[in-house]
Amino acid sequence: MSSTLPTIRRADSMPAAARDNHVPVAIVGGGACGLTAALMLHDLGVDCAVLERDGTPTGSSALSSGFIPAPGTQVQKDLSIADSAERFAADITAKAKGRAAPQLVQAYARAIGPALDALQDRHGLEWQVLDGFLYPGHSVRRMHAVPEKTGVGLMGRLANAVAAADIPLVTDAAVRELWADDTGLLLGVGYERPDGTLEHLSCDTVILACNGFGGNAAMVRELLPEMRDALFAGHTGNDGSAIAWGRALGACLADLGGYQGHGSWAIPQGALISWALMMEGGMQVNAQGRRFHDETQGYSEASVHVLAQPGGVAWNVFDAPILALARGFPDFVDAEAAGAVKHCDSVQALAALIGCDDTALAATLAGQGPYPRPGTRALQAPFCAVKVTGALFHTQGGLDIDAQCRVLDTQGRPFPNLLAAGGAARGVSGDAVWGYLSGNGLLSAVAGGYLAAYTAAHLLRPPTGSKP
Ligand SMILES: Cc1cc2nc3c(=O)[nH]c(=O)nc-3n(C[C@H](O)[C@H](O)[C@H](O)COP(=O)(O)OP(=O)(O)OC[C@H]3O[C@@H](n4cnc5c(N)ncnc54)[C@H](O)[C@@H]3O)c2cc1C
Repeated sequence: MSSTLPTIRRADSMPAAARDNHVPVAIVGGGACGLTAALMLHDLGVDCAVLERDGTPTGSSALSSGFIPAPGTQVQKDLSIADSAERFAADITAKAKGRAAPQLVQAYARAIGPALDALQDRHGLEWQVLDGFLYPGHSVRRMHAVPEKTGVGLMGRLANAVAAADIPLVTDAAVRELWADDTGLLLGVGYERPDGTLEHLSCDTVILACNGFGGNAAMVRELLPEMRDALFAGHTGNDGSAIAWGRALGACLADLGGYQGHGSWAIPQGALISWALMMEGGMQVNAQGRRFHDETQGYSEASVHVLAQPGGVAWNVFDAPILALARGFPDFVDAEAAGAVKHCDSVQALAALIGCDDTALAATLAGQGPYPRPGTRALQAPFCAVKVTGALFHTQGGLDIDAQCRVLDTQGRPFPNLLAAGGAARGVSGDAVWGYLSGNGLLSAVAGGYLAAYTAAHLLRPPTGSKP
């Protein structure tokens, strides 16, 4: 595939053939956001096509753990967990210290429960609520996952549902062009095939579900300089297409400093080590055998703290009870199989592994030093340790949107028929790394895809279109 840059083309020069190839809604990107939007449009009786650059739709969604926070779902009610959209919105807002876009916090907190229920009731996705621990910043157990507890499982189930619903999913179709008139009305898209040819599709509405710019090193240097040297653990297709189109159209960009980092990326294996280990009493120590931050604040900001340590690395230290919990996570099982987990019988052996002074390490393990965690059990030998670094998982800044996922211009006015959701749009984490509440990524993707579908249906059928 060539490296043609995403562009905006004048609608009056759109190839005539494109007009014969028409779909009401063109969805750019087949990750969790795009596939959710497609399924909801199907339920609303609106035809759409998903255009996906890869041969199989995976995106960052398949690389993820697949954990989605949601209040008030049927499965959460069945477990008698008291929760509400208001409580969830308050948790999101608190984590972002009030800097998350309020209209999106409210809209996503309200939409995600119905979205997960719809995917379960109408498309056979089965949800479980994760048990045993709370993710940082969540006041109640509301993290949902499919039975496989992986992003691959989530995407497999969404893709199966799309196939069962007979929704056109055009793979190997990298959208390069949006066709727009002078008013910003979009009339179609042009997508590139692996042999370099361009095909065209006219449409009434476009939903950008092509995620953010984490995979575009130049954009990360420009827009997110604090992570310019960090390893990117997301999907290469997160190439900033939405930002490029938005800039060319005069769209407003928002929250560009927001992102999901992760301070627990095993090296050299390149694998996620669940933050549940830290929440259950594990700790991060540096090459001096000392803790350097309060792990309970969150894994996203931990990425910056870890990168600030000598060599940009740290060790996750934990013990046997935490190891037993960790083995419930498929990501961890894979990392362990790849040799990421080291076992040490004593403080001295652990100190030798880390290369630090054993007296300093013993004091750290005994709870001495900064960042006290009252009530946390002291770790006991035998110890486990994983060498980790800080990574960029995905960007949370993007196209500014309203609560209906309509893209806004720099004057705050919505474009007539351009919608964006998931990582293509701004998220609900504010403009800094510490604003990311666990699950904000897939929250934006799934709730945003759900809302964008309703908005697209409404744009197509204004008198009768229903709102979620
Ligand atoms: C290791 C890791 C673990 C994570 N774990 C979690 C988690 O447990 N919970 C959580 O909430 N978040 C998690 N995240 C973040 C989460 O993966 C993302 O926020 C989410 O997947 C975004 O979904 P999306 O549909 O917007 O984007 P994606 O899933 O990336 O999908 C975008 C799709 O668009 C396609 N595309 C891009 N450009 C074009 C184009 N021009 N034309 C056609 N197609 C295009 C891409 O190929 C891709 O398939 C994790 C991220 C990583 C990296």
